[in-house]
Amino acid sequence: MTMEKFQESMYKLIVETSTKLPRDVRRAIKAAKARENAGTRAAMSLATITNNISMADDQVSPICQDTGLPTFKIKTPVGVNQIQIKKAILEAIAQATKDGKLRPNSVDSLTGENSGDNLGAGTPVIKFEQWEEDYIDARLILKGGGCENKNIQYSLPSEIEGLGRAGRDLDGIRKCIMHSVYQAQGQGCSAGFIGVGIGGDRTSGYELAKEQLFRSVDDVNPIEELRQLEEYVMENANKLGIGTMGFGGETTLLGCKVGVINRIPASFFVSVAYNCWAYRRLGVKINAETGEINDWMYQEGEHIDFSKEVEDETETEQKIVTLQAPITEEQIRELKVGDVVQINGMMYTGRDAIHKYLSDNESPVDLNGQVIYHCGPVMLKDEEGKWHVKAAGPTTSIREEPYQGDIMKRFGIRAVIGKGGMGPKTLAALNEHGGVYLNAIGGAAQYYADCIKSVEGVDLMQFGIPEAMWHLKVEGFTAVVTMDSHGNSLHADVDKSSLEKLAQFKEKVFS
Ligand code: SF4
Repeated sequence: MTMEKFQESMYKLIVETSTKLPRDVRRAIKAAKARENAGTRAAMSLATITNNISMADDQVSPICQDTGLPTFKIKTPVGVNQIQIKKAILEAIAQATKDGKLRPNSVDSLTGENSGDNLGAGTPVIKFEQWEEDYIDARLILKGGGCENKNIQYSLPSEIEGLGRAGRDLDGIRKCIMHSVYQAQGQGCSAGFIGVGIGGDRTSGYELAKEQLFRSVDDVNPIEELRQLEEYVMENANKLGIGTMGFGGETTLLGCKVGVINRIPASFFVSVAYNCWAYRRLGVKINAETGEINDWMYQEGEHIDFSKEVEDETETEQKIVTLQAPITEEQIRELKVGDVVQINGMMYTGRDAIHKYLSDNESPVDLNGQVIYHCGPVMLKDEEGKWHVKAAGPTTSIREEPYQGDIMKRFGIRAVIGKGGMGPKTLAALNEHGGVYLNAIGGAAQYYADCIKSVEGVDLMQFGIPEAMWHLKVEGFTAVVTMDSHGNSLHADVDKSSLEKLAQFKEKVFS
């Protein structure tokens, strides 16, 4: 096989997966959008999401800045050299990273050092299988950290929060799946898709769960009990009211696929892999002689071009407030949960490394009255040495919970922007200090990159591109107040109400 051609095919697969959502996923998102009432936060969020999908289409840029841990599943005919295939994939990954189609995401687990090219021990993941067909089946999933962190594994029998005892039977499995959707809340950038693995051990159970994410959203489970289970979950998980980004709403789940393998008598695992709405997985059929792409997978049926969809013009129900940093305490105290905020002026990115750094050191810039954005952007430097933002959506904020409140008080920060909400420690600090938490739409990396008008500087580059402190000048950056300075948290409210709703699914359904 011509490895040059094969490498080119892998590069195309990576770029297409990162920048264009497959057709089955687009149809699921369109259906969700149709279910939401115009003017609500859920409708507004879905409009931002579909707008973002169109922007990524047009600019051939990453749909979400978190391009995850690339995971390939490759089936090869007998005789194809898998060592050469692996080499070509690694080259293609490095090239796509260099071209800003993937964020450098591979870090040394002990030192935190970013390899810069997405290559390193264990990254990317490549799983090979041999088969008797004469072509290569190559599939790729880019699953980001926000949703990966919401994966969950249950060991039956178990006592499940809100649902009581779950036994080693189909009904126990049902309870695990319903709970998995509840526990994810909006933190995995709902509305999401779940892959469920029944059986196996802790490792093979999770593998099976992830394997289900390679199924088409529209397929029908050939095992009748599992078909019924999938249907039940799709119908009832959407009654939990978690909604897009956990803002409440009609659609929480866009797809549920369940697979089963044998187990040993002593263990009974139910493993759930949660995937955000930015469900980036594609596949190609490759000619084993030439290395060229013969066909694309997951691209059957109607193609939705969101740029051509007619938007409902209804005004949003929420109050829209314009803010310009530096922001005063008075301005912050006026904001209430549910308000929509548009920010103009400066904001500074800060993720895990920056929060840890700021808790022990002085800030390189004056943060008094300023806005911190939980974001690890994809950045590219041009030939003149100027930085450009290629993708810049919010990252999961809860990781900063141990630091956030103290840092806000110490440096006078008035607003933090992220996704998924924060906990009681931050809520108390917002109240005491006069601060606000703003939830941006997770995954809307192109939409937010477009709001960033210039990169004014960068500090702490020693932490790598995603973790550095970028100084960004923005215009019309829109986010929702989900935690205010009066002790209110939309995240806590939705969690509470969805737990109450979960309890209605306590009764036995499957025998
Ligand atoms: S959409 Fe959200 S969960 Fe998915 S990769 Fe992006 S930030 Fe992570």
